[in-house]
Amino acid sequence: ALTIGIVGLPNVGKSTLFNALTRQTILAANYPFATIEPNVGVVNLPDERLDTLAGIFGSQKILPATVSFVDIAGIVKGASEGEGLGNQFLANIREAHAIAQVVRVFEDDNVVHVDGKVDPTSDMETINTELVLADLQTLENAIPKLEKQVKQKKAEQAQLDAYLAAQTVLERGDTIFSAIASEKLDMENLAQLSLLTAKPFIYVFNVDDSVLGSAERQQELADLVAPAQAVFLDAKLEADLVELSEEEAREMLELNGQEESGLDQLARVGFDTLGLQTYLTAGPKEARAWTINKGDTAPEAAGVIHTDFQKGFIKAEIVSFDDLVAAGSMNDAKSAGKVRMEGKDYVMKDGDVVEFRFNV
Ligand code: GDP
Repeated sequence: ALTIGIVGLPNVGKSTLFNALTRQTILAANYPFATIEPNVGVVNLPDERLDTLAGIFGSQKILPATVSFVDIAGIVKGASEGEGLGNQFLANIREAHAIAQVVRVFEDDNVVHVDGKVDPTSDMETINTELVLADLQTLENAIPKLEKQVKQKKAEQAQLDAYLAAQTVLERGDTIFSAIASEKLDMENLAQLSLLTAKPFIYVFNVDDSVLGSAERQQELADLVAPAQAVFLDAKLEADLVELSEEEAREMLELNGQEESGLDQLARVGFDTLGLQTYLTAGPKEARAWTINKGDTAPEAAGVIHTDFQKGFIKAEIVSFDDLVAAGSMNDAKSAGKVRMEGKDYVMKDGDVVEFRFNV
C-alpha cells in the first residue's frame, strides 16, 4: 500500500498528530482488512459522494478510500551521518512514497524547542539539509560504481548523466523534488536510487488558533514551501477531536472556525500528493471508493477489486457521479443515455461510478 512517512524535529507534535491518526484508525470500524501495525495510521479519505450514492442505492455500508501514514522517529542534526538511530531512521523513510514534514509554528513556553526558539524556516532547513546530505551520500556511493560500469559498457551514459545532474542540484542544497520541474531531471534513471528528497513533500504546519484563523499567515507559510503542499492544523485539537462523537467534533470545529478537521485535510492532500484518484461502486450492500493511480485504464481499475476482474475484463459500465445524481437513479441515467460501455483502453476519471463485466 502507498504510505506517507511523517518526519520532523523532536517536540514539534509528531506523536500528538500520529496518536490522533491511529486513534482514528481504531475508531474507523469501516476499515475491513486492517492488520493495524503500531506505526501505521490509516485515515479515511472523506468523500461526501459516498453518502449520496448510499442514498441512491440504499447501501447498507459506506467504505471510503484510505490513506496510510507511517510514524518515523524524529530527525536531529547529524542524522544523515548515519550514527545509530539516524541510519535506521533514514532507511524507514526510504520506503515511504511521500514525506509529510511536521513543522512547529505553535508557541508554548512549556514545550521546549530543540534550538531554543520557534522558527519554522530554520526548522525546515535543518530537516531538508539532513535529507539532502543523505541523498548526496547515496550518489557519492553510486557514481564511482556507475562510472566503471559505463566504461565497461555495462551501463548507459544517460544514467550517469542523470546521477550527475541530481548531484549538482543537491550540492546547491536543493531537494530533488523542488528541482524536478525546473531542471528537467531524468527521474526514470534516478528511480532505482530511491532518493529521499525526490519524494513528494507535504508540509504539515502545527499551529495554534491565531494561525488557524488567519488566511494571511497561512499564505505566508504556504509560499515558503510551494510547490510542495501545505496543511495547517493544531495537533492538540486533532487529538481532542478524535475522542468526540461526529456531532461534537463538528461543533468543536465550528467553534474554531474550521470546515473540516486537519486529519481530513491531511488525508486529501496526501491522496493527491501520491497521485491517486478514486472511482466508485455502489449497490444495496455497500457504496465504496476504490483507489487507483491517475491514468489507470478500466482493466487496471478492475484489478484493484480482484485480479480476476482484470484478467477476465470485458467492459465497464460507467456513469459519471454528477450525471447519476442529476438523473436520480441508475435506470433513469440509462434512459437518459448517460451510462456508457467502455472497453479496455478507457482511462478512468475521478468519480466514475462503475460496474465491471468480466469472464470468470
Ligand atoms: P514529537 O517529539 O514531535 O513527537 O512531539 P510531541 O507530539 O511529543 O509533542 C511535544 C509536546 O508539544 C507535547 O507536550 C505536546 O502536548 C505539545 N504539543 C504538540 N502539539 C501541540 C500544539 O499544537 N500546541 C501546543 N500548545 N502544544 C502542542
